[in-house]
Amino acid sequence: MALYKDEGIVIRERPLGEADKLLTILTRKGGKIAASARGARRTRNRLLGPTQLFCHSRFLLLTGRGLATVGQAEIIEPFVGLRESLERLAYASYFAELVDGFLGEDDSQPAAFDLLRSLFSGLLKAQDQDLLVRYGELKLVSLMGFMPSLFRCAGCGEALPLETPKAAFSPSAGGILCNRCSGQQESFFLKGSSVAALRHMLTADPQRVSVLAMSEDVRVELRLAMRRYIDYYLAKNLKTLEFLAAIEGGG
Ligand SMILES: [Zn+2]
Repeated sequence: MALYKDEGIVIRERPLGEADKLLTILTRKGGKIAASARGARRTRNRLLGPTQLFCHSRFLLLTGRGLATVGQAEIIEPFVGLRESLERLAYASYFAELVDGFLGEDDSQPAAFDLLRSLFSGLLKAQDQDLLVRYGELKLVSLMGFMPSLFRCAGCGEALPLETPKAAFSPSAGGILCNRCSGQQESFFLKGSSVAALRHMLTADPQRVSVLAMSEDVRVELRLAMRRYIDYYLAKNLKTLEFLAAIEGGG
C-alpha cells in the first residue's frame, strides 16, 4: 500500500455495500481516481462530509493493487449550494460528466481540475447560468485539445472576416469554415452574433465574459451548436478509449 495525498473534487459517487461509497475523485495532480470510502454513508462517519458529491477536499488515499481507499479527508470547499438547487445540480453534474468523459484514466491535467473548480464557484455566483455553461463547454473542449477554430477557416486555414452576417460551423472540421470550404464539408450555419459571442467567450477573461449579453435566439443556437460539437468529440474520444481498452484487454 502506498499513500497518496492530493486535493480533489468528488465527480461521481455511488453506494457500495451497506454503508460505503464508491467515488470517482478528480485529483489535482493525479487525474481521476476511483476510491472506496468506508462507512461514508453513516451519519457520524468522519468521511461523510468530505466525500459528498462535488465536494472539494484534501484526500489521503491508500493506493495499491485494486481499488484505492480513502484513508482521511477534510473539506476545503463543500460546494453545498450546487446540491441545493436542481438547476445548479444539473449544470454541475454536466460539467463533472464532461470532464469525466474527456479525461482518460491516467490523464493528469491540473488545469482540468482548476477549471472545474472555477466553474463550480462560478455556478454559485453567476447571474447568467446559461452563459456560464456555454463558456465552460468551450473552455473544457479547448483544454482537452479540441478548441474550435473561430478566427481561421477550420478547413484551409484562411483568415476569416471579423464581422460576418453568418458563418458555416462544422464540428467534424473543427470550427468555422470559409465560403469555399463550407460546400465541401458537413456544416450548419450560425448567425454572425452567435459567432461573435463564441469568439468573445473563447478570448475574453472570465470577468469580461459575464457581462456578455446574448439574445434568446443566439442562446438557443449556441446551445445546439455546442451540443453537436461536444457530442462529436466526446464520441470520438470514447471510441478511442474503447478501442484502447479492447486492445489492452485482448492483448
Ligand atoms: Zn477554407
